[in-house]
Amino acid sequence: VARKVPVNLGERSYTITIGYEILEECTAELGTFPLEKEVFLLSDREVHKYYGSSLETLIADQGFKVRTYLMPPGEEAKSWEQAGEILEKMLEGNLGRKAPVLALGGGVVGDIAGFVAALYRRGVPFIQIPTTLLAQVDSSVGGKVAVNHPLGKNMLGTFYQPLAVWADLRTLDTLPDNEWRAGLAEVVKYGIIWDEAFFEFLENHTLEILRRDPSVLPEMIERCCQIKAEVVGRDEKDEGLRNILNFGHTLGHALESATHYKEYRHGEAVAIGMYGAMELAYALGMIEKDVVTRVKDILELWELPIRFPAKFLETVIQNLIYDKKVSDKKVLFILPTAIGKVEMVRDIPQDIIRRVVQENL
Ligand code: NAD
Ligand code: ZN
Repeated sequence: VARKVPVNLGERSYTITIGYEILEECTAELGTFPLEKEVFLLSDREVHKYYGSSLETLIADQGFKVRTYLMPPGEEAKSWEQAGEILEKMLEGNLGRKAPVLALGGGVVGDIAGFVAALYRRGVPFIQIPTTLLAQVDSSVGGKVAVNHPLGKNMLGTFYQPLAVWADLRTLDTLPDNEWRAGLAEVVKYGIIWDEAFFEFLENHTLEILRRDPSVLPEMIERCCQIKAEVVGRDEKDEGLRNILNFGHTLGHALESATHYKEYRHGEAVAIGMYGAMELAYALGMIEKDVVTRVKDILELWELPIRFPAKFLETVIQNLIYDKKVSDKKVLFILPTAIGKVEMVRDIPQDIIRRVVQENL
């Protein structure tokens, strides 16, 4: 049976449905929303190849007309130009104000779908159907939608919550292994920032998780969604608490940008960033060494990187100083004080940051 996770945001509340082969029961609920009998399905060519036509059939079975728009796979497509093309198609098709945008795909499709849904006629409903681990545990939940600009990732965006999130775990079967492991970095993140028992669950099931075993996946993905929902429910607009979701991302983003988003998957950069943050917390006397080791062990077991080559050091340090989370020239780091507990720290001297990063290349 499907698991349901509520996201409590007042009038904008919605439910995340998680389970294997849930799309039939989810599409059957389309009729319960106040929608026109027409959907705009946005996907990428890769994902659509696997899951597009069966989803289109399910939607058509509910009496909805489906209009499909396919974009190329990959981060480059999450652009202002691509969003413009999609919006033009919506306009040309004279899509109605109550016709929902459905996002079938990973975080790229989800982010741009939410972005165009927010803009088209000042906002039409949208539904997330995430098909990567990262999208199921992170990007499809919480309403951050954006496209990239050459001057920065996710620089053009807004907060726009979906009507529902449908996470069909069956779609994960076809996800390439490196995408799977990159998603696991964000899974570990939830344990470290929020829930020691969940971290222990991960430690106790590392191999089942690596194999995508159905005996552990529903519980794992549900717990991640619960934590994200809890955090977003308390701080939807990223004014305080929501920052903790950026654990590992301060250094991670600096590295992604230093390598022009080509060298590392987001989750891989986050793994390096989480390990760096652990070492930084240790250097500042905030945690014991064995906590650092626990995190290092699980990342290494899942073959996630924890270090980066020295040739990127200077650019990474430069980027850290110009990170968007900087206020008054001080970088915001999310640092653990134990597994399950983090603090936001702003006043770390630059020479300490540099030393710790350098020592852990
Ligand atoms: P992605 O959407 O690029 O998907 C990765 C690759 O996997 C793509 O090539 C895609 O075609 C393919 N794919 C997707 N599902 C598949 C499946 N089931 N089977 C086979 N192949 C499949 O990448 P992603 O990691 O899902 O998302 C990354 C994006 O998410 C970034 O742009 C990032 O900024 C964004 N993001 C947003 C938030 C948020 O809160 N909105 C949070 C985290 C990340
Ligand atoms: Zn992330």
